[in-house]
Amino acid sequence: MTQKSKENQLAEVQFQFEECRLCELNVTRTQLVFGEGNPNSKVVFIGEGPGRDEDLQGKPFVGRSGQLLSEVIFEVFQWNRNHYYITNIVKCRPTIDRQMIKDRPPEKKEIEACHPILLKQLDIIKPKVIVTVGSSATKALLNTKEGITKLRGNWYDFHGSSLMPIFHPSYVLRNGGIRSPQYQQMKSDLELVKNFLEIEK
Ligand code: URA
Repeated sequence: MTQKSKENQLAEVQFQFEECRLCELNVTRTQLVFGEGNPNSKVVFIGEGPGRDEDLQGKPFVGRSGQLLSEVIFEVFQWNRNHYYITNIVKCRPTIDRQMIKDRPPEKKEIEACHPILLKQLDIIKPKVIVTVGSSATKALLNTKEGITKLRGNWYDFHGSSLMPIFHPSYVLRNGGIRSPQYQQMKSDLELVKNFLEIEK
């Protein structure tokens, strides 16, 4: 399948869900944050949900934690945002009491409502590797209550792709950022992905 046709298919899904009202997050969102990047990439990064910056810009991972994630991806793969696809388990910004002030993790019903969109994206892209970024995305896709500290750095299967969980960059920032042990762990987990892709070549 050519890059254009995958792009077109994704654009169709995006168009289909632009006005989505499958959960209550539609009431407060500025816009749905669908995902972006290279649909021919072997790797898709999946985070928790848009924050304030993402809701305003309509792009995933463009705030402070997004910058840290971009940095570690560049450090390990030498990839910029055009090299990989990136999205979230929920496409609209979840905030406490729908006040649009403080972000919160998405609720189960919001994750379930949004799941068909994510599955459609993955069916089109068919990545070799899914990197789940943080606890919410990892637990949702692996359907587990196990903590991210235990899950990260290990391989799992999800819908025909290999899945690698990593820490969320906001957790890494809370622990000291690029000089923290958590940053090194995020980096070594991504190195596992890099080695896997090289073996698979
Ligand atoms: N955190 C996420 O998990 N996703 C984003 O898009 C931004 C911040």
